[in-house]
Parts: sequence; structure tokens; C-alpha cells
Amino acid sequence: STREKYGPLIGAIDEGTSSTRFLVFASKTAEVLTYHQKEVPHICPHEGWFEQDPLVILQAVLETINVTCDNLKKLNLDFEDIVAVGITNQRETTVLWDKTTGKPLYNALVWMDMRTSNTVDEVLQYGKRDQYFLQYACGLPVSTYFSALKIKWMMDNVPEVKQAMKSGNCLFGNIDTWIIWNLTGGTKGGLHITDCTNASRTMLMNIETLKWDAQLCRIFDIPMNVLPEIRSCSEIYGYIADGLKLAGVPISGILGDQQAALVGQLCFNIGQAKSTYGTGCFILYNTGTSMVHSSHGLLTTVGYKLGPNQPTVYALEGSVAIAGISIRWLRDNLKIIQEAADSAELAQNVSESGEVVFVPAFSGLYAPYWRKDARSVICGLTEETKPGHLIKAALEGVCYQVRDVLEAMSLDCGIPLKKVLVDGGMTVNDYLMQMQADYTGIPVVRPTMLETTALGAAIAAGSAKGVEVWDPTKIQPTPNDVFSPSISIDVRDMKYTRWKMGISRSLGWAIE
Ligand code: ADP
Repeated sequence: STREKYGPLIGAIDEGTSSTRFLVFASKTAEVLTYHQKEVPHICPHEGWFEQDPLVILQAVLETINVTCDNLKKLNLDFEDIVAVGITNQRETTVLWDKTTGKPLYNALVWMDMRTSNTVDEVLQYGKRDQYFLQYACGLPVSTYFSALKIKWMMDNVPEVKQAMKSGNCLFGNIDTWIIWNLTGGTKGGLHITDCTNASRTMLMNIETLKWDAQLCRIFDIPMNVLPEIRSCSEIYGYIADGLKLAGVPISGILGDQQAALVGQLCFNIGQAKSTYGTGCFILYNTGTSMVHSSHGLLTTVGYKLGPNQPTVYALEGSVAIAGISIRWLRDNLKIIQEAADSAELAQNVSESGEVVFVPAFSGLYAPYWRKDARSVICGLTEETKPGHLIKAALEGVCYQVRDVLEAMSLDCGIPLKKVLVDGGMTVNDYLMQMQADYTGIPVVRPTMLETTALGAAIAAGSAKGVEVWDPTKIQPTPNDVFSPSISIDVRDMKYTRWKMGISRSLGWAIE
């Protein structure tokens, strides 16, 4: 029977910045049996502001679960074969809601939103504080990126938030917390929890103890009673509430999306790294049970903790804010491509002339620069420049940013990476992958199963105590495509010098 063929099924909610999906994995083969995806709209009321409606996100999640369950029927499978659900989510994105009404107090502030620029300055104005003054406690530089700044902005600017905090009705959550609270009963006793990977991106968790840190909370004036309970990434937290599809199924895995990709790529050993190319691009390097505090602009973050009694594994992370979204910008704003997928062909068919450099600093620059005053620049335009040159420069901009991060990683760790495992929506682009190998000088390895983020969440859920249909150490990697470097070191370095010239022009462009 199908049940014998596939084994028990595991569901994964994958709530990304661009879209949300629900996927169903077969525990026997680790293959995706079916999924449904829905785009989630962005709300940009002002320049640099980037919101999403938490209720729209929630509806999209529920809809993808419903449609996927219907899809299962067509495969002669029953959704009752789903024995556990895991969740992976866009990190840092911040929701505040009222626990008595269940209503959001404001739209979700999405991770790349830059309105907190002044909040950063406020926090840094005292004494001799520099951007890294809290790195020892939370592993992160003070930046517009992290949740603490977003909570503080809402406290300072949204009267409803201030009021709800005063009356003790306000709850904070990243997207994982918001969805789980709603799936487990909402106003009727929903669980208010998160996991240590998501919590490690708030700036409020102590990176060593994995507990909320009173001193960090004081610096941002955030009352600790709004914060969810921090749990491991893999344990039965609770069950989906009656009245919803999959009622009674345990929720047993939570991982931030980039950490989920690390797990899904089976990077369980020290020195293994993966790069995920979606809206942004995020490179995580497993440093084992010891933390590495970067001196080169990388973040220290929790990689995973697969059970309450399992060790905490840390990672160094290079976060790049703008990757796939620059291709979306070429499509939606400049309208020089119709589909993201057209980018490879148009870029390939331009003359070699025209050393156009495109630094996509729409949200400032993240790793390794951490400069909120950077803005995008396109340099080197000539009379000969065609749309294809811009498209090529946008793809190159992604590859150079990854090289920036890999250089920082080898400086911090002392050992250059020998290869990089890749995944994410942009990696279907072979041209981009070859360029990445060329510009970094190391092989780029792409698994044929590209759903690594969702797989990571499924692994966490399926291996939790009480579910145990999966043993993470026994999952076999799928076959890979390998892209090997094919240009000379001289050409590689000459091009990279151009990129650095572009970077220097972009820094400080926003006069603050
Ligand atoms: P997220 O997880 O952040 O929601 P995805 O992993 O789904 O993002 O990737 C979507 C992004 O990838 C979009 O920004 C899109 O512009 C980009 N993208 C999709 N296909 C291609 C392609 N063939 N070439 C270049 N970029 C692409």
C-alpha cells in the first residue's frame, strides 16, 4: 500500500518572505509528496518600510494546509497519515498582538524594514557604545535587522501597542510564534512559544544560556512578560486545535528558515556550510558546540538544538539582505524582465564589454559591512549598456556578496571553505551557479532535492521524542549537481576589485 511505500508522513509549514508553503514528506524516502504555495503580498507604505499583514500570513498558512491535504487525496493518501508538523519561518519579522482579542496591534515589521534606523542611533547614543557593544551577549551587532529594534519602534510609535503593554495583554512573536499560537487555540489557550534559533535573532536572548536576558531587555525597554517561552527545535510542543485541519496532530519542530536549511542540507559537522539564495542570501557555517565571535562582521547564531537534552550547535552567519529581490525589482520596477527565470538568458547574451557593477543596497548593507547608510549604486554605464548588462550585474552582485561573506568566514575561522552547498529559489538558475563557482573559486554543490528548508523543519518534527519516525543521522543526501570554477584567479580578482569599488561608492550614500 501507499502507506507501506512512504511510511508515516510529516508536514512542514515553510513561511518565507515571498511566499508560504505547506509540504508533505514521506518519512521512508525523504521525498516531497505534494505541496501548495501562496505568495504573500508586501506592504510598503513609505520608502524603506516593509510590512506584511499577520492575518493574511495566517490565512495563507491555513489555506496551503487545506489545499495540500486535498492534494494528498489525489495520491491516494490520507492526511490522517501526517504524524507531525514542523514549522520554519522568515526570521526577525516581528508581530505584536493582543492576547484577549487575538488581533495584531500593527502589521508585521518584516526583517528588511529600515524604519528602525533612528532607533539604532538612539540605542547607540549613550557613552561609547559602538555597533558591536552587545555582541558578547547576543552575538549580533545593533542593526535595523533584529526584532528588539522593531519591538521598540512599535512601543514608541504605536499607541495601541503601548496601551496593550500597560494592560499586560500584549504578546510578541516572530512568525513561528504567531502561527503556533493560532494553530494551538489562539485566544482559547494558544501556546506562546518559540525556539532557540528564532530567539537568537531577536537581540534579547543570551546566546550562551539560551534564556531571555534581563539586561538586553532593559537596554531596549522591552517588558519580559511579552516574550514567548524559548524551547528546543525538536520536541512535542502541543497539538493542532480542534476545528482546524490536522486537529490533534503534534507540532514538534521549529527552526528559523536559514537554520532549517542548515539541517536540511545535513550540515551536522563542524566546518560544513550552506548558502541559501531566496529574497536575501544567507550563509551559515557550523562551528559545533562552541561559539565563534566574529571580528569580521559575521553573526553568531544558534544553528540548532534538536531536543531539550541535546547539545546546542552554533553557527557563524553571513546575512545578505538583497539577493532574489533584486531580480524581482528588475521585473516589477524596471520591467526589463518578465519572469525571474528569464534573467539567465538575457544576461548571457550580452557582449563582454561594459564592466557594470550593481551593488543592491536597498536596505543598507548587511554582512560583512553592517552599514545602514549604504544605498544601491549602479556604476560603469556607457552608451553600449543594455538591459542585459544590468541583469548580469544584478546576478553578479549576488555572487560578490557571497564572496564577501566567505572571505570574512575564512578570516574568522582560519580555514577557507572547500565547497559550498546551495539551495533556495534562485539556485534553479544554472548560469548564476556557474558564476558563483567562478567568482568564489570553490565548487558549488546543489542537491537535486532543493526543498532543504522545509526538509529541515520536517527533520526536526519527525525526530522529536514521541514522534521518532526519523533519525537525522540516517538521512541520506540526494545526488548533487556540482559547478566547478572555470576562470583564472587573475580575472576573478580583477572583477572583485571592481565590486569593491562599487561598494565604496555605495557606503554613506544615505545622508543621515
Ligand atoms: P523566500 O524563501 O525568501 O521567500 P525563495 O527561495 O522562494 O524566497 O526565492 C524567491 C526569489 O528567487 C525571488 O526573489 C525571485 O526573484 C528569485 N528567483 C526565482 N527564480 C529565479 C531565477 N531563475 N533566476 C534568478 N532569480 C530567481
